[in-house]
Amino acid sequence: MYWGLRAENHRGHQSHGFLTYNEGKFYSYKNLDLVPKLKTSVIQEWFGRLPGNIGIANVRYTTSGKCDDQSIIQGTQPMTAEADGVKIAVSFNGNIVNTQQLLQEVTKEFPEIKCGCDSDLVCNKLLIELKSGKTLPEAVKATMLSLDGAFSVLCIMGNGEFFAFKDPHGIKPLCAGHSPDGKTLVFSSETVSLDINGFERDFELEPGELVTTTKDGHFERHQLIEKPQKAFCAFEYAYFARPDSLFDGRYVYEIREEFGRNLVKEYPEISKNSDIVLSVPETGDDPAMGVHEASGLRWERASRRHRYVTERAFILLNNERYSTIDRKVNILGSKVDGKRVIVTEDSIVRGDTTKVIIEKLRKSGAEKVYMFVTFPRIIGPCFYGIDMSTYGQLIGSTHNEEEIAKIIGADQVCYQSIENLVKATGCKKEDLCMACITGKYPTPLAQEFADKMKTRFLAGYQEKTRIYETVSESQGVQW
Ligand code: SF4
Repeated sequence: MYWGLRAENHRGHQSHGFLTYNEGKFYSYKNLDLVPKLKTSVIQEWFGRLPGNIGIANVRYTTSGKCDDQSIIQGTQPMTAEADGVKIAVSFNGNIVNTQQLLQEVTKEFPEIKCGCDSDLVCNKLLIELKSGKTLPEAVKATMLSLDGAFSVLCIMGNGEFFAFKDPHGIKPLCAGHSPDGKTLVFSSETVSLDINGFERDFELEPGELVTTTKDGHFERHQLIEKPQKAFCAFEYAYFARPDSLFDGRYVYEIREEFGRNLVKEYPEISKNSDIVLSVPETGDDPAMGVHEASGLRWERASRRHRYVTERAFILLNNERYSTIDRKVNILGSKVDGKRVIVTEDSIVRGDTTKVIIEKLRKSGAEKVYMFVTFPRIIGPCFYGIDMSTYGQLIGSTHNEEEIAKIIGADQVCYQSIENLVKATGCKKEDLCMACITGKYPTPLAQEFADKMKTRFLAGYQEKTRIYETVSESQGVQW
Protein backbone atom coordinates (compact mmCIF):
# COMPACT_ATOMS: atom_id res chain seq x y z
CA MET A 1 0.00 0.00 0.00
CA TYR A 2 2.90 2.29 0.82
CA TRP A 3 4.60 1.84 -2.57
CA GLY A 4 1.28 2.02 -4.35
CA LEU A 5 0.41 5.32 -2.74
CA ARG A 6 3.85 6.73 -3.49
CA ALA A 7 3.40 5.74 -7.13
CA GLU A 8 0.22 7.83 -7.18
CA ASN A 9 1.49 10.85 -5.29
CA HIS A 10 0.97 12.92 -8.44
CA ARG A 11 -2.79 12.73 -7.72
CA GLY A 12 -2.43 14.81 -4.54
CA HIS A 13 0.50 16.27 -2.66
CA GLN A 14 -1.09 18.19 0.22
CA SER A 15 -1.62 15.24 2.54
CA HIS A 16 -1.56 11.45 2.73
CA GLY A 17 -3.26 8.84 4.88
CA PHE A 18 -3.22 5.08 5.49
CA LEU A 19 -5.78 2.99 7.32
CA THR A 20 -5.69 -0.71 8.15
CA TYR A 21 -8.21 -3.14 9.59
CA ASN A 22 -7.39 -5.76 12.21
CA GLU A 23 -9.85 -7.82 14.25
CA GLY A 24 -12.68 -5.31 14.12
CA LYS A 25 -10.53 -2.21 14.70
CA PHE A 26 -9.25 0.51 12.38
CA TYR A 27 -5.72 1.89 12.68
CA SER A 28 -4.64 4.98 10.79
CA TYR A 29 -1.73 7.26 10.08
CA LYS A 30 -2.23 10.67 8.42
CA ASN A 31 0.07 13.57 7.75
CA LEU A 32 0.57 16.62 5.56
CA ASP A 33 2.62 16.75 2.33
CA LEU A 34 3.95 13.97 0.12
CA VAL A 35 4.10 10.33 1.18
CA PRO A 36 7.41 10.33 3.07
CA LYS A 37 10.52 8.31 2.38
CA LEU A 38 10.81 5.71 5.11
CA LYS A 39 14.13 4.95 6.74
CA THR A 40 14.65 1.27 7.58
CA SER A 41 14.48 2.14 11.27
CA VAL A 42 10.99 3.62 10.84
CA ILE A 43 9.51 0.74 8.84
CA GLN A 44 9.03 -1.51 11.89
CA GLU A 45 7.36 1.38 13.67
CA TRP A 46 4.89 1.71 10.79
CA PHE A 47 4.17 -2.03 10.83
CA GLY A 48 3.34 -1.72 14.52
CA ARG A 49 1.21 1.31 13.95
CA LEU A 50 -0.79 -0.21 11.07
CA PRO A 51 -1.53 -3.88 11.86
CA GLY A 52 -3.79 -6.10 9.78
CA ASN A 53 -4.04 -7.40 6.24
CA ILE A 54 -6.70 -5.10 4.76
CA GLY A 55 -6.04 -1.45 4.17
CA ILE A 56 -6.91 1.66 2.20
CA ALA A 57 -4.89 4.80 1.52
CA ASN A 58 -5.30 8.19 -0.07
CA VAL A 59 -3.37 11.22 -1.24
CA ARG A 60 -5.28 14.46 -1.41
CA TYR A 61 -5.23 17.82 -2.99
CA THR A 62 -8.00 20.08 -1.90
CA THR A 63 -10.97 20.62 -4.17
CA SER A 64 -13.44 20.98 -1.31
CA GLY A 65 -13.15 22.76 2.05
CA LYS A 66 -10.50 25.18 3.25
CA CYS A 67 -6.78 25.08 2.38
CA ASP A 68 -5.07 25.91 5.71
CA ASP A 69 -2.98 23.14 7.29
CA GLN A 70 -5.55 22.31 9.96
CA SER A 71 -8.40 21.99 7.44
CA ILE A 72 -6.21 19.94 5.11
CA ILE A 73 -5.31 17.47 7.85
CA GLN A 74 -8.98 17.29 8.94
CA GLY A 75 -9.92 16.53 5.34
CA THR A 76 -7.20 13.91 4.96
CA GLN A 77 -8.58 10.49 4.14
CA PRO A 78 -9.35 7.70 4.82
CA MET A 79 -12.40 8.93 6.72
CA THR A 80 -14.17 6.85 9.33
CA ALA A 81 -17.71 6.94 10.71
CA GLU A 82 -19.64 4.80 13.16
CA ALA A 83 -23.23 4.58 14.40
CA ASP A 84 -25.64 1.92 15.70
CA GLY A 85 -22.97 -0.76 15.59
CA VAL A 86 -22.03 -0.08 11.94
CA LYS A 87 -18.51 1.13 11.30
CA ILE A 88 -16.90 2.15 7.99
CA ALA A 89 -13.68 3.61 6.63
CA VAL A 90 -13.71 5.33 3.24
CA SER A 91 -11.12 6.53 0.74
CA PHE A 92 -12.57 8.54 -2.12
CA ASN A 93 -11.30 10.20 -5.28
CA GLY A 94 -13.44 12.84 -6.94
CA ASN A 95 -15.60 15.74 -5.88
CA ILE A 96 -19.22 16.11 -4.84
CA VAL A 97 -21.40 18.93 -6.18
CA ASN A 98 -24.60 18.64 -4.11
CA THR A 99 -22.81 19.13 -0.82
CA GLN A 100 -25.41 21.49 0.61
CA GLN A 101 -28.23 18.99 0.26
CA LEU A 102 -26.03 16.18 1.63
CA LEU A 103 -24.88 18.28 4.54
CA GLN A 104 -28.49 18.87 5.56
CA GLU A 105 -29.25 15.17 5.36
CA VAL A 106 -26.12 14.13 7.27
CA THR A 107 -26.50 16.73 10.03
CA LYS A 108 -30.18 15.81 10.45
CA GLU A 109 -29.08 12.23 11.15
CA PHE A 110 -25.93 13.13 13.11
CA PRO A 111 -26.47 16.65 14.58
CA GLU A 112 -23.12 16.60 16.39
CA ILE A 113 -21.09 16.05 13.21
CA LYS A 114 -18.99 18.82 11.67
CA CYS A 115 -18.26 17.98 8.03
CA GLY A 116 -15.32 20.00 6.70
CA CYS A 117 -15.26 18.60 3.17
CA ASP A 118 -17.05 16.30 0.77
CA SER A 119 -15.20 13.11 1.76
CA ASP A 120 -16.77 13.39 5.23
CA LEU A 121 -20.17 13.66 3.60
CA VAL A 122 -19.65 10.64 1.33
CA CYS A 123 -18.52 8.57 4.32
CA ASN A 124 -21.49 9.60 6.47
CA LYS A 125 -24.04 9.26 3.68
CA LEU A 126 -22.86 5.69 3.05
CA LEU A 127 -23.08 5.00 6.78
CA ILE A 128 -26.68 6.26 6.90
CA GLU A 129 -27.63 3.89 4.10
CA LEU A 130 -25.73 0.93 5.56
CA LYS A 131 -27.22 1.25 9.02
CA SER A 132 -30.76 1.55 7.65
CA GLY A 133 -30.95 -2.21 7.19
CA LYS A 134 -30.38 -2.24 3.43
CA THR A 135 -28.17 -4.89 1.85
CA LEU A 136 -24.74 -3.71 0.77
CA PRO A 137 -25.69 -3.33 -2.94
CA GLU A 138 -28.90 -1.51 -1.97
CA ALA A 139 -27.02 0.87 0.34
CA VAL A 140 -24.33 1.59 -2.26
CA LYS A 141 -26.92 2.13 -4.97
CA ALA A 142 -28.85 4.57 -2.78
CA THR A 143 -25.58 6.43 -2.07
CA MET A 144 -24.66 6.51 -5.76
CA LEU A 145 -28.04 7.92 -6.72
CA SER A 146 -27.96 10.60 -4.03
CA LEU A 147 -24.59 12.08 -5.02
CA ASP A 148 -24.04 14.54 -7.89
CA GLY A 149 -20.38 14.49 -8.86
CA ALA A 150 -17.44 12.20 -9.40
CA PHE A 151 -16.58 9.48 -6.91
CA SER A 152 -14.43 6.40 -7.02
CA VAL A 153 -14.73 4.95 -3.52
CA LEU A 154 -12.95 2.25 -1.49
CA CYS A 155 -14.49 1.06 1.75
CA ILE A 156 -13.75 -1.28 4.66
CA MET A 157 -16.50 -2.14 7.11
CA GLY A 158 -16.17 -2.95 10.79
CA ASN A 159 -16.79 -6.63 9.99
CA GLY A 160 -13.86 -6.68 7.54
CA GLU A 161 -15.88 -6.44 4.32
CA PHE A 162 -13.81 -4.71 1.63
CA PHE A 163 -15.38 -3.23 -1.50
CA ALA A 164 -15.16 -0.47 -4.12
CA PHE A 165 -17.60 1.42 -6.31
CA LYS A 166 -17.64 4.06 -9.00
CA ASP A 167 -20.10 6.85 -9.80
CA PRO A 168 -22.71 6.29 -12.53
CA HIS A 169 -20.62 8.27 -15.05
CA GLY A 170 -17.27 6.68 -14.18
CA ILE A 171 -15.60 10.09 -14.21
CA LYS A 172 -12.50 9.07 -12.24
CA PRO A 173 -10.39 5.98 -12.93
CA LEU A 174 -10.44 2.93 -10.64
CA CYS A 175 -9.16 -0.52 -11.52
CA ALA A 176 -8.95 -3.89 -9.80
CA GLY A 177 -6.06 -6.33 -9.76
CA HIS A 178 -4.32 -9.11 -7.85
CA SER A 179 -0.91 -10.27 -6.67
CA PRO A 180 0.86 -13.03 -8.66
CA ASP A 181 0.02 -15.65 -6.00
CA GLY A 182 -3.62 -14.54 -6.05
CA LYS A 183 -3.63 -13.98 -2.29
CA THR A 184 -3.93 -10.20 -2.38
CA LEU A 185 -6.65 -8.22 -4.14
CA VAL A 186 -6.18 -4.56 -4.91
CA PHE A 187 -8.09 -1.52 -6.14
CA SER A 188 -6.23 1.47 -7.48
CA SER A 189 -6.85 4.73 -9.36
CA GLU A 190 -4.08 3.96 -11.83
CA THR A 191 -2.21 0.86 -12.95
CA VAL A 192 1.19 2.27 -11.91
CA SER A 193 0.62 1.28 -8.30
CA LEU A 194 -0.11 -2.29 -9.42
CA ASP A 195 3.04 -2.34 -11.59
CA ILE A 196 5.28 -1.18 -8.78
CA ASN A 197 4.08 -4.05 -6.60
CA GLY A 198 4.32 -6.65 -9.38
CA PHE A 199 0.51 -7.05 -9.40
CA GLU A 200 -1.66 -7.77 -12.42
CA ARG A 201 -4.58 -5.65 -13.55
CA ASP A 202 -7.88 -7.50 -13.86
CA PHE A 203 -10.38 -4.86 -14.99
CA GLU A 204 -11.45 -1.22 -14.84
CA LEU A 205 -14.61 -0.72 -12.78
CA GLU A 206 -17.60 0.18 -14.92
CA PRO A 207 -19.63 3.33 -14.22
CA GLY A 208 -22.21 2.55 -11.54
CA GLU A 209 -20.50 -0.69 -10.55
CA LEU A 210 -19.93 -2.12 -7.05
CA VAL A 211 -17.14 -4.68 -6.65
CA THR A 212 -17.02 -6.73 -3.46
CA THR A 213 -14.25 -9.10 -2.40
CA THR A 214 -14.71 -12.59 -1.00
CA LYS A 215 -12.73 -14.14 1.84
CA ASP A 216 -11.34 -16.78 -0.54
CA GLY A 217 -9.83 -14.07 -2.73
CA HIS A 218 -12.26 -13.27 -5.52
CA PHE A 219 -13.95 -10.19 -6.89
CA GLU A 220 -17.71 -10.15 -7.25
CA ARG A 221 -19.10 -7.60 -9.65
CA HIS A 222 -22.52 -5.95 -9.24
CA GLN A 223 -23.76 -3.52 -11.90
CA LEU A 224 -26.10 -1.32 -9.88
CA ILE A 225 -27.07 1.31 -12.45
CA GLU A 226 -28.80 0.23 -15.63
CA LYS A 227 -27.40 1.66 -18.87
CA PRO A 228 -25.06 4.21 -17.26
CA GLN A 229 -23.71 6.98 -19.49
CA LYS A 230 -19.94 6.94 -19.18
CA ALA A 231 -18.15 10.30 -18.95
CA PHE A 232 -14.48 9.60 -18.22
CA CYS A 233 -12.37 12.70 -17.54
CA ALA A 234 -10.54 13.68 -20.75
CA PHE A 235 -8.06 15.73 -18.71
CA GLU A 236 -6.64 12.50 -17.25
CA TYR A 237 -5.25 11.77 -20.73
CA ALA A 238 -3.72 15.20 -21.25
CA TYR A 239 -2.38 15.97 -17.80
CA PHE A 240 -3.51 14.23 -14.68
CA ALA A 241 -2.65 10.55 -15.04
CA ARG A 242 0.89 9.23 -15.07
CA PRO A 243 2.18 8.57 -18.61
CA ASP A 244 2.99 4.96 -17.73
CA SER A 245 -0.55 4.18 -16.58
CA LEU A 246 -2.83 2.09 -18.79
CA PHE A 247 -6.34 3.17 -19.70
CA ASP A 248 -8.33 0.77 -21.86
CA GLY A 249 -5.20 -1.20 -22.64
CA ARG A 250 -3.15 1.78 -23.88
CA TYR A 251 -0.41 3.66 -22.11
CA VAL A 252 -1.25 7.30 -21.49
CA TYR A 253 2.10 8.36 -22.98
CA GLU A 254 1.22 6.78 -26.34
CA ILE A 255 -1.94 8.88 -26.48
CA ARG A 256 0.03 12.01 -25.57
CA GLU A 257 2.48 11.28 -28.42
CA GLU A 258 -0.51 11.06 -30.75
CA PHE A 259 -1.63 14.47 -29.48
CA GLY A 260 1.73 15.85 -30.62
CA ARG A 261 1.43 14.28 -34.08
CA ASN A 262 -2.09 15.73 -34.36
CA LEU A 263 -0.83 19.24 -33.61
CA VAL A 264 1.69 19.03 -36.46
CA LYS A 265 -1.13 18.05 -38.82
CA GLU A 266 -3.33 20.87 -37.55
CA TYR A 267 -0.63 23.57 -37.80
CA PRO A 268 1.54 22.54 -40.80
CA GLU A 269 2.87 26.03 -41.57
CA ILE A 270 4.21 26.60 -38.06
CA SER A 271 5.70 23.11 -37.99
CA LYS A 272 7.46 23.81 -41.32
CA ASN A 273 8.78 27.18 -40.22
CA SER A 274 10.21 26.30 -36.83
CA ASP A 275 13.72 25.20 -35.84
CA ILE A 276 13.23 23.06 -32.75
CA VAL A 277 10.59 21.58 -30.49
CA LEU A 278 10.97 21.94 -26.76
CA SER A 279 8.73 20.56 -24.03
CA VAL A 280 7.47 21.94 -20.80
CA PRO A 281 8.63 19.12 -18.56
CA GLU A 282 7.16 16.60 -17.94
CA THR A 283 3.65 16.43 -19.35
CA GLY A 284 4.89 18.18 -22.51
CA ASP A 285 7.56 15.51 -23.13
CA ASP A 286 5.36 12.90 -24.79
CA PRO A 287 3.63 15.35 -27.16
CA ALA A 288 7.09 16.74 -28.01
CA MET A 289 8.10 13.24 -29.13
CA GLY A 290 5.00 13.18 -31.34
CA VAL A 291 5.80 16.59 -32.82
CA HIS A 292 9.37 15.46 -33.49
CA GLU A 293 8.17 12.28 -35.24
CA ALA A 294 5.59 14.03 -37.40
CA SER A 295 7.63 17.13 -38.31
CA GLY A 296 11.23 15.92 -38.26
CA LEU A 297 12.14 18.84 -35.99
CA ARG A 298 14.81 18.17 -33.42
CA TRP A 299 13.38 17.69 -29.92
CA GLU A 300 15.87 19.90 -28.13
CA ARG A 301 15.92 18.90 -24.47
CA ALA A 302 16.77 22.45 -23.51
CA SER A 303 14.19 22.79 -20.74
CA ARG A 304 15.19 20.75 -17.73
CA ARG A 305 13.34 20.11 -14.53
CA HIS A 306 14.99 20.23 -11.15
CA ARG A 307 14.74 16.61 -10.00
CA TYR A 308 14.09 17.37 -6.35
CA VAL A 309 11.41 20.04 -6.75
CA THR A 310 8.64 17.51 -7.04
CA GLU A 311 5.36 19.43 -6.78
CA ARG A 312 3.20 19.58 -9.88
CA ALA A 313 2.59 23.23 -10.73
CA PHE A 314 -1.04 22.72 -11.58
CA ILE A 315 -2.08 21.46 -8.17
CA LEU A 316 -0.16 24.04 -6.17
CA LEU A 317 -1.88 26.93 -4.48
CA ASN A 318 -1.93 30.21 -6.40
CA ASN A 319 0.79 31.84 -4.33
CA GLU A 320 3.12 28.83 -4.66
CA ARG A 321 2.83 28.21 -8.38
CA TYR A 322 4.76 31.09 -9.94
CA SER A 323 7.87 30.76 -7.81
CA THR A 324 7.87 26.97 -7.96
CA ILE A 325 7.83 26.82 -11.75
CA ASP A 326 10.53 29.49 -11.85
CA ARG A 327 12.78 27.39 -9.62
CA LYS A 328 11.80 24.11 -11.15
CA VAL A 329 12.45 24.65 -14.85
CA ASN A 330 15.85 25.61 -16.21
CA ILE A 331 16.26 26.76 -19.84
CA LEU A 332 19.59 26.02 -21.53
CA GLY A 333 19.96 29.43 -23.12
CA SER A 334 22.43 28.79 -25.95
CA LYS A 335 20.22 26.03 -27.35
CA VAL A 336 17.29 28.37 -27.99
CA ASP A 337 19.15 31.59 -28.83
CA GLY A 338 17.96 32.89 -32.23
CA LYS A 339 15.67 29.86 -32.74
CA ARG A 340 12.01 29.59 -33.71
CA VAL A 341 10.70 27.32 -31.00
CA ILE A 342 7.59 25.14 -30.71
CA VAL A 343 6.84 24.53 -27.04
CA THR A 344 4.61 21.58 -26.17
CA GLU A 345 2.40 22.00 -23.13
CA ASP A 346 -0.45 19.87 -21.76
CA SER A 347 -2.86 22.69 -21.00
CA ILE A 348 -3.22 26.36 -20.23
CA VAL A 349 -5.37 26.91 -17.16
CA ARG A 350 -4.46 30.24 -15.61
CA GLY A 351 -1.63 31.01 -18.01
CA ASP A 352 0.76 32.04 -15.24
CA THR A 353 3.14 29.07 -15.42
CA THR A 354 3.29 29.15 -19.22
CA LYS A 355 4.09 32.84 -19.04
CA VAL A 356 7.12 32.12 -16.84
CA ILE A 357 8.47 29.58 -19.34
CA ILE A 358 8.00 31.99 -22.25
CA GLU A 359 9.70 34.82 -20.33
CA LYS A 360 12.66 32.52 -19.75
CA LEU A 361 12.80 31.56 -23.42
CA ARG A 362 12.67 35.20 -24.54
CA LYS A 363 15.46 36.09 -22.11
CA SER A 364 17.51 33.31 -23.66
CA GLY A 365 17.05 34.83 -27.11
CA ALA A 366 14.27 32.71 -28.64
CA GLU A 367 13.14 34.45 -31.84
CA LYS A 368 9.64 32.93 -32.03
CA VAL A 369 7.67 31.00 -29.45
CA TYR A 370 4.70 28.91 -30.59
CA MET A 371 2.71 27.09 -27.92
CA PHE A 372 1.38 23.66 -28.99
CA VAL A 373 -1.21 22.81 -26.36
CA THR A 374 -2.66 19.31 -26.29
CA PHE A 375 -5.78 20.00 -24.20
CA PRO A 376 -8.21 22.32 -26.01
CA ARG A 377 -9.04 25.75 -24.59
CA ILE A 378 -10.46 25.43 -21.08
CA ILE A 379 -13.56 27.60 -20.99
CA GLY A 380 -15.36 26.44 -17.86
CA PRO A 381 -14.71 25.17 -14.34
CA CYS A 382 -14.41 21.56 -13.23
CA PHE A 383 -16.78 20.23 -10.58
CA TYR A 384 -15.32 16.77 -10.43
CA GLY A 385 -12.01 16.91 -8.60
CA ILE A 386 -9.68 19.15 -10.58
CA ASP A 387 -9.23 22.43 -8.77
CA MET A 388 -10.08 24.84 -11.56
CA SER A 389 -13.35 25.74 -10.04
CA THR A 390 -14.13 29.33 -10.99
CA TYR A 391 -14.51 31.13 -14.32
CA GLY A 392 -12.30 33.96 -13.12
CA GLN A 393 -9.19 31.81 -12.76
CA LEU A 394 -9.44 30.40 -16.30
CA ILE A 395 -7.70 32.53 -18.88
CA GLY A 396 -9.66 30.72 -21.61
CA SER A 397 -13.07 31.57 -20.16
CA THR A 398 -12.86 35.18 -21.30
CA HIS A 399 -10.02 35.23 -23.85
CA ASN A 400 -9.61 33.69 -27.28
CA GLU A 401 -6.38 32.20 -28.68
CA GLU A 402 -4.98 35.52 -29.94
CA GLU A 403 -5.63 37.30 -26.65
CA ILE A 404 -4.13 34.45 -24.66
CA ALA A 405 -1.00 34.53 -26.84
CA LYS A 406 -0.63 38.23 -26.14
CA ILE A 407 -1.09 37.84 -22.39
CA ILE A 408 1.40 35.00 -22.00
CA GLY A 409 3.88 36.46 -24.50
CA ALA A 410 3.68 33.77 -27.23
CA ASP A 411 3.71 34.41 -30.97
CA GLN A 412 0.82 32.00 -31.34
CA VAL A 413 -1.15 29.61 -29.17
CA CYS A 414 -2.17 26.45 -31.04
CA TYR A 415 -4.67 24.18 -29.31
CA GLN A 416 -5.40 20.62 -30.39
CA SER A 417 -8.97 20.32 -31.68
CA ILE A 418 -11.56 18.46 -29.61
CA GLU A 419 -12.13 16.03 -32.51
CA ASN A 420 -8.47 15.02 -32.65
CA LEU A 421 -8.20 14.75 -28.87
CA VAL A 422 -11.15 12.34 -28.83
CA LYS A 423 -9.79 10.30 -31.75
CA ALA A 424 -6.40 9.91 -30.09
CA THR A 425 -7.92 8.60 -26.84
CA GLY A 426 -9.73 5.85 -28.75
CA CYS A 427 -12.90 6.64 -26.76
CA LYS A 428 -16.28 7.53 -28.15
CA LYS A 429 -16.99 11.25 -27.79
CA GLU A 430 -20.09 10.55 -25.68
CA ASP A 431 -18.02 8.42 -23.26
CA LEU A 432 -15.76 11.32 -22.24
CA CYS A 433 -16.32 14.19 -19.83
CA MET A 434 -15.12 17.31 -21.62
CA ALA A 435 -17.22 19.76 -19.63
CA CYS A 436 -14.39 22.22 -19.05
CA ILE A 437 -13.76 22.54 -22.81
CA THR A 438 -17.34 22.25 -24.09
CA GLY A 439 -19.52 23.62 -21.26
CA LYS A 440 -21.61 20.41 -21.29
CA TYR A 441 -21.56 18.78 -17.85
CA PRO A 442 -22.47 15.11 -17.36
CA THR A 443 -24.36 15.70 -14.09
CA PRO A 444 -27.42 17.97 -13.78
CA LEU A 445 -26.50 20.04 -10.74
CA ALA A 446 -23.02 20.84 -12.10
CA GLN A 447 -24.65 22.03 -15.32
CA GLU A 448 -27.08 24.20 -13.39
CA PHE A 449 -24.35 25.74 -11.20
CA ALA A 450 -22.05 26.33 -14.17
CA ASP A 451 -24.76 28.04 -16.19
CA LYS A 452 -25.94 30.21 -13.29
CA MET A 453 -22.44 31.28 -12.35
CA LYS A 454 -21.49 31.99 -15.96
CA THR A 455 -24.36 34.45 -16.25
CA ARG A 456 -23.36 36.14 -13.00
CA PHE A 457 -19.67 36.15 -13.92
CA LEU A 458 -20.27 37.71 -17.34
CA ALA A 459 -22.37 40.38 -15.61
CA GLY A 460 -19.35 41.35 -13.49
CA TYR A 461 -19.69 39.14 -10.39
CA GLN A 462 -16.32 38.39 -8.78
CA GLU A 463 -16.09 34.80 -7.64
CA LYS A 464 -14.50 34.48 -4.23
CA THR A 465 -14.42 30.73 -3.87
CA ARG A 466 -15.20 27.51 -5.74
CA ILE A 467 -18.59 27.72 -7.47
CA TYR A 468 -20.14 24.73 -5.67
CA GLU A 469 -19.14 26.27 -2.34
CA THR A 470 -20.32 29.78 -3.32
CA VAL A 471 -23.73 28.33 -4.06
CA SER A 472 -23.76 26.55 -0.71
CA GLU A 473 -22.83 29.71 1.15
CA SER A 474 -25.35 31.85 -0.67
CA GLN A 475 -28.01 29.39 0.47
CA GLY A 476 -27.04 29.97 4.06
CA VAL A 477 -24.78 26.99 4.69
CA GLN A 478 -21.31 27.57 6.08
CA TRP A 479 -18.61 24.97 5.66
S1 SF4 B 1 -14.59 19.05 -16.33
FE1 SF4 B 1 -12.63 18.72 -17.35
S2 SF4 B 1 -11.18 18.29 -15.73
FE2 SF4 B 1 -13.22 18.06 -14.86
S3 SF4 B 1 -13.72 15.88 -15.04
FE3 SF4 B 1 -14.53 16.88 -16.89
S4 SF4 B 1 -12.84 16.78 -18.38
FE4 SF4 B 1 -11.99 16.30 -16.38
